[in-house]
Amino acid sequence: MCFVVQALNLMAIFNPHIRHVAIDGALFQDEVEDREIMSVPSIYLNGKPFDQGRMTLEQILAKVDTGAVEREAKKLNEKAAFDTLVIGGGPAGAAAAIYSARKGINTGIAAERFGGQVADTMGIENFISVSHTEGPKLVSALEEHVKDYDVDVMNLQRATSLKAADTEDGLHEVTLASGATLKSKTLVLATGARWREMNVPGEQTYRNKGVAYCPHCDGPLFKGKHVAVIGGGNSGAEAAIDLAGIVGHVTLIEFMGEMRADAVLQKKLKSLPNVDIILNAETRHRYRVFLPPVTSPPCLTNRSSLPWAKVPRHRWAPLTT
Ligand SMILES: Cc1cc2nc3c(=O)[nH]c(=O)nc-3n(C[C@H](O)[C@H](O)[C@H](O)COP(=O)(O)OP(=O)(O)OC[C@H]3O[C@@H](n4cnc5c(N)ncnc54)[C@H](O)[C@@H]3O)c2cc1C
Repeated sequence: MCFVVQALNLMAIFNPHIRHVAIDGALFQDEVEDREIMSVPSIYLNGKPFDQGRMTLEQILAKVDTGAVEREAKKLNEKAAFDTLVIGGGPAGAAAAIYSARKGINTGIAAERFGGQVADTMGIENFISVSHTEGPKLVSALEEHVKDYDVDVMNLQRATSLKAADTEDGLHEVTLASGATLKSKTLVLATGARWREMNVPGEQTYRNKGVAYCPHCDGPLFKGKHVAVIGGGNSGAEAAIDLAGIVGHVTLIEFMGEMRADAVLQKKLKSLPNVDIILNAETRHRYRVFLPPVTSPPCLTNRSSLPWAKVPRHRWAPLTT
C-alpha cells in the first residue's frame, strides 16, 4: 500500500477529527479522468489540492504544522557535534552509519528522504541471497537495521552547504535547508543520484501531467494507453517491463546504439509482445508540440517521458554523430 495512504490511515486512527477517503485510480478510472490526475498519490485537503507524489507521515505533518520546520531546526542546532555524520540515507548512507555505529562511534544521518532511490522500484532481483524483493520493503528493512544501533536519524533534512573544518581536529559544518547547522568531526557524503531530466521544453510544464518518474506508482493511471520510457539502462528496462503488464504498449527510447541494461532484463523486455525498442534516438525539444492535453495521459518513465501515442516514428531524429 502507498506510504501516503498508510500515513493518512494512521492519522485517521489516532485522531478522531481526521477522516480520509482513498480512491484507487486503477479501479476508478472515471474519477481519475474527471479530476485530471496523472500522478499518484494526489492529495486533497478539504476538497483543495494539498500535494502530489510520495510523502511520508513526517512530511505531511510538517506541511500541515506550519511551525514544524523552525522547531525542528532549533532542535537540530542544539545537537552536540557528531563523530561521524552521514549525509544521505540510501543503502550507502545506511551501510556507512551501521558500520560506524558498530564501532561505537557517535553517528548521525541527515537525509532528504531516508531510503533513497530503491524506494522507487518494485522489483529488485540482484540482492544476493534474496531472489526478489520490493523497494519499499527493502527500505523498511534498512530503517529497522539502522534503528538497531545508536544512530541519530534526521530525516527530511536537505543539506545545502558544507564548511570544511579549518584545522585537522576541527569540526565540519553542514547547513540544512531549514537553516540549522550540524557539526561533525568526520563527514560521509552518500547523496547518491537523482532522476535525470531531459531538459527539453515541456518537461517541467507537464511534470505529473503525463511526464512521470515512478512506474509502479503512476503506471496504473495509464492503463491501456501507449507510453514511452526514455533510457535503456537497468532502471529504464525495469520500468518498461513493469509498465508492459499494465499499459497497452510501451516504446523504450535509447539515445545510444545499444541498451546498457543487464542482459537478463533485455531478454525479458524483448520477449514482451507489447514493447518496441528504438535505439539511436534523441528526444528533442520539438516533442513539446505533441504533448497532448492533460486529460489524455500519454506516457511515463523512470527518468522522463514524452507522449509516444501522439508522436509518429519519423519525428525521432536518428543521431548522425
Ligand atoms: C526505478 C529504480 C530501480 C532500481 N532498481 C535496482 C535494482 O533492481 N537493483 C539495484 O542494485 N539497483 C537498483 N536501482 C539503483 C539503486 O537504487 C541505487 O544504486 C542505490 O539506491 C544507490 O544508493 P545510494 O545510497 O548510493 O544513493 P541513493 O539511493 O540515491 O540515496 C541518496 C540519499 O541521499 C539523500 N540526499 C541527496 N541529496 C541530499 C542532500 N543535499 N541532503 C541530504 N540528503 C540528500 C537522498 O534523499 C537519499 O537518502 C534502481 C534505481 C531506480 C531509480
